[in-house]
Amino acid sequence: MTQRATNGISDLVSFLDSSPSPWHAVASSVARLTASGFQQLNEADAWQHVGDGFVVRGAALVAWRSSTSSSATSPFHIVGAHTDSPCLRVKPRPDGGGFGWRQLGVEVYGGALLNSWLDRDLGVAGRVVLRNGSAVDVAVHEPIARVPQLAIHLDRDVNDKGLLLDKQQHLAPVWGTGAAADGDFANWLGAQANVSPADIAWWDLCLFDTTKAALLGSDRSMLASARLDNQLSCWAAVDALTSAAASETTSVIALFDHEEVGSESASGASGPLLSTVLERLSALRGANREGFHRALANSSCISADNAHAVHPNYPERHEPGHRPLVNCGPAIKVNANQRYATNAETAAAFQRACERADVPWQVFVSRNNMPCGSTIGPLTATALGIPTVDVGVPQLSMHSARELCGALDPIYLARALSAYFSE
Ligand SMILES: [Zn+2]
Repeated sequence: MTQRATNGISDLVSFLDSSPSPWHAVASSVARLTASGFQQLNEADAWQHVGDGFVVRGAALVAWRSSTSSSATSPFHIVGAHTDSPCLRVKPRPDGGGFGWRQLGVEVYGGALLNSWLDRDLGVAGRVVLRNGSAVDVAVHEPIARVPQLAIHLDRDVNDKGLLLDKQQHLAPVWGTGAAADGDFANWLGAQANVSPADIAWWDLCLFDTTKAALLGSDRSMLASARLDNQLSCWAAVDALTSAAASETTSVIALFDHEEVGSESASGASGPLLSTVLERLSALRGANREGFHRALANSSCISADNAHAVHPNYPERHEPGHRPLVNCGPAIKVNANQRYATNAETAAAFQRACERADVPWQVFVSRNNMPCGSTIGPLTATALGIPTVDVGVPQLSMHSARELCGALDPIYLARALSAYFSE
């Protein structure tokens, strides 16, 4: 690995470790953007700043790098990704338990691999909103809770018949011993957030695996971490935006929330966040409504979300000839039924960006007898009418509490995105 790649991976590791919730993924992105001179704008203000900037809405972020030579109808080069990952969320009234255990009520967020949450030492992170309406982001990077698996002696068939988990019955973590009392969790949370428990109104809180991201293997060629899907792509988008050379186009990254639950929200890819920001950027440069649509007509989008690498123990689950390998570059994701937005033209454009960046690329197609996942690409393409390609770093264990990918691929992705922005 080159020195630049080594630095990149250690920055990605620090991004992952400091982003245990989607709100923290936004904060980690903001820190990097601010350090590169990007200015935060408020959606409620009148915008006058035409330089590099960003807006934050909930756990979503849109950032842009304007070229001084760009005109009112300059196209946008957009990279989309998502900040959220499947996890367990703390319910509003979580205090419960029995038989000498204090337990937390949790709700499953997204399509989590439930078994992967068992027997892990879990921390708590997310957003706390106070009675006065102000919000505080909290991350407790200590083992607070654990979902204990049933002993094999009490579940004799588990290895032969598989593990069945009832989401309501079997996922409540223990987080203390003794009798549970209403207000336990709020009292603990107040102490962690440095606020009076009486001031806490509501929260959006995730449980997360406190194990740090790690390079794995005798050759350190793998990266294991929580939330690789899709904080890896968020990191690559931010890295590409802050490192891209100036160009005629306006480079934009859109890091959406709620992809794992269908994207239909104010801060999700099906909402108006991206189109609103693009329209305001056009207006800022003096474009009227027609000018905005002229800008869109020449724009393009790369939707970056991880792909499935071929699993060595299950190669038959993958389509022959379209099985992405780790450390062989980002995969272009193709689905004729438009579960991915890729078409021949957008795929060829991404291929050219990879070639300019001297980055290898691969292709992913699902088997006809396997349902194909989807992502934000078709949603933004539908909303904006912008040609879009879906791409992603190949990984294993997607939606596990701890996922695995190649250590080189995030660097390849960032370089390809940077080349796209520099066109
Ligand atoms: Zn994803």
